Amino acid sequence: MTTQSPTQDLKDAIGARVDATLEEIQALYRQLHQTPELPFQEHRTSERIAGALEGLGFEVTRGVGGTGVVSLLRNGEGPTVMLRGDMDALPIKEQTGLDFASRETAIAEDGNEVPLMHACGHDLHSSCVVGAAGVMAALREHWSGTLMLVCQPAEEIFGGARAMLDDGLYERFGRPDVILGQHNMPALAGTIGHIAGSAMAACTNLAVTIHGAGGHGSMPAQTVDPVVIAAHVVTRLQTIVSREVPPEETVVVTVGKLHAGTQANIIPHSAELEINIRSFDNTLHRQVVVAIERIVRAECEAGRSPKSPEFRVLSETIALHNDPSAVEQVRRAHGEHFGEASLYDMPRLNGSEDFPFFGSAEAGGFGGEDIPYVYWFIGATPAERWAEAPGESVSQKMRHLEMPHSPYYFPGNAVTLRTGIEAMSAGALAYLGVGNGRKPLSTQDTMP
Ligand code: ZN
Ligand code: ZN
Repeated sequence: MTTQSPTQDLKDAIGARVDATLEEIQALYRQLHQTPELPFQEHRTSERIAGALEGLGFEVTRGVGGTGVVSLLRNGEGPTVMLRGDMDALPIKEQTGLDFASRETAIAEDGNEVPLMHACGHDLHSSCVVGAAGVMAALREHWSGTLMLVCQPAEEIFGGARAMLDDGLYERFGRPDVILGQHNMPALAGTIGHIAGSAMAACTNLAVTIHGAGGHGSMPAQTVDPVVIAAHVVTRLQTIVSREVPPEETVVVTVGKLHAGTQANIIPHSAELEINIRSFDNTLHRQVVVAIERIVRAECEAGRSPKSPEFRVLSETIALHNDPSAVEQVRRAHGEHFGEASLYDMPRLNGSEDFPFFGSAEAGGFGGEDIPYVYWFIGATPAERWAEAPGESVSQKMRHLEMPHSPYYFPGNAVTLRTGIEAMSAGALAYLGVGNGRKPLSTQDTMP
């Protein structure tokens, strides 16, 4: 008779629990997928998640930061591990052809009706949190500490994490010692990508109004033309990246919207710009935003603008910086659980997330020390589709596959769902597990 290692026992126990509940989680996932909702409108979604967690015996609180759901499983002494999922969908018309594809619509902020789709897989992330909750509840004799489950609204507009923190997330439910989150991506289903340190970009979407003094197109001397000022602004903004940002840094400044006027013979009163800024360093990011404001103000002054320009931040998030030692700990646990062959090194992404607010004392507004976090990526492309895609590396193949936010994107296959549930469970057990050969982190190890 062979004796299995404690790690193998735990791995088998997680697998058996996932086998027993996968159908149920798939049913929840399909329901969520079929009824997507816009940011901060996730009423049915959050109710379904809250109901599923209550069914597992968790303490559940609804309505945190709007539609956020917080749930705790207290299981003796030890650290608190937070697992985070998101719930919101996108205004996209689903083209996947699935039998449970969304046909939903909603009224957007501007009053227009928009189609809805879970094109970023947030339905998958929340389903994985519920699945991991089930695993952790069933395996409670294998761990000690507190499991905190947070399903947030409005990730796509970078609003939900801050809304939950502003609603007293940590004051009301306790402050976690480590935070774990994940996102699906076009990589082989069943694989997991990790990246330590700088992983995703800070992002600001800034609206600018430039004021002129409108009039007849034939009499420019009696007007202040905001179109000419705006044109100078757009050109001058290019000097931020080329002349102000050190060449070794990656920064993007894109003017994605430029609007003024109605027809050729009218000089308009104002011009509107929308600017997208991305970078990987929060301090440098601030400097770039300040530089944009400086240039806009100076061009308005140069162009005799009668009124100061106006700036409005449409949405904003900070850079995602994975704690290197927490990444190492979680990666080791994932290696033991899935096997090293299932892990890959994730390249840094230009995309952005509001997840890092949960870990940043300053930007998250909760004070004290930052909280270490790990955000990893789970492959969502079925094996046959992956094999067909040209290229060798993950980044080469990714270019030939549907990406999140595409109307054809569908990450919700059984392998990915299962991987996401197991990755969250194994990640939580890396901190909470006892008797599995790992030293559980005492509160003293993580508290300043
Ligand atoms: Zn998205
Ligand atoms: Zn997303």
